[in-house]
Amino acid sequence: MTLLWKLVWQLRCPNKVKNFIWRACKDILPTKTKLKDRKIPVEVECDICGNVETAGHVFWGYELAVTVWQMANLKAPCLTANLPNFLDLFWCVKKAKPSQDLETFASLAWSLWNNRNAVRHGEACRTALQIFETSRTFLNEFQNFCELPHPPQPHGPSLWRPPPFGWYKLMGALSKLLPYPLGALEIEAKVAEIGMTFAWELGLREIILEGDSQTVMAAITNHDPGPIQVHHLITRIKSWEPKFRAWKSSFTRKDGNKAAHHLAKYAKHISDCIIWVEDTPPIIASQILDDVSVLGFNPV
Ligand SMILES: [Zn+2]
Repeated sequence: MTLLWKLVWQLRCPNKVKNFIWRACKDILPTKTKLKDRKIPVEVECDICGNVETAGHVFWGYELAVTVWQMANLKAPCLTANLPNFLDLFWCVKKAKPSQDLETFASLAWSLWNNRNAVRHGEACRTALQIFETSRTFLNEFQNFCELPHPPQPHGPSLWRPPPFGWYKLMGALSKLLPYPLGALEIEAKVAEIGMTFAWELGLREIILEGDSQTVMAAITNHDPGPIQVHHLITRIKSWEPKFRAWKSSFTRKDGNKAAHHLAKYAKHISDCIIWVEDTPPIIASQILDDVSVLGFNPV
């Protein structure tokens, strides 16, 4: 896995492409079947061709995608085979050719995914030539005019840490403006409660709830219900615990989860509630990349 990290983060591609490739290799792209597996009510049919939309399908399971790969003329023989997952394909291209092909592969896969998202949101499907040309221009421009990959960030005592495999850390792909005046502790507890119900609705059943209020997180973790003003909230949060298959809560300092902090600040500017299920919120995209690239070079 360390090798994969390094390989992905050393690609001469924009960070958003690397981020995408990493998610694809980890098989966590929100394809329709993936959402369905998480009990999110979506139809599983591909918006482009109507077949079942799996991760494999999105990248090489329909005619348009096949044509795009043919145009790229990558020398990896695996591209014509029916490979079960993205990671296998990535390694296969890596083995077959030097880095230039891997970067073309990454950029094309990203373009196919973008086209899929655009169609899903009601835009017209692009032609194979458009996808191919856009991807090539995008990559060339980056490689000609932009700098090499993100340098690793300096180590600090409060780096964000990912959860163990198979767990989800609730750090806020939800940004919500609370409509009433609350004290700081009540806000922290309320946020924890919203996060927990949000996780439940997303179909997550093994979660880590992370917060930057030591008092609230301690109250959630321990038997003590905490200060009186958050009593009712803590009790409600705890009542959710048995619903999850596994549940942990942890305290992290504000500077240990900058992405969550950015989302909280962002909530001041929105009128109600924004939820990101399919993508990284743009407001924290670069922070997520920083967090991930640090881990990439120094995996925990
Ligand atoms: Zn399709």
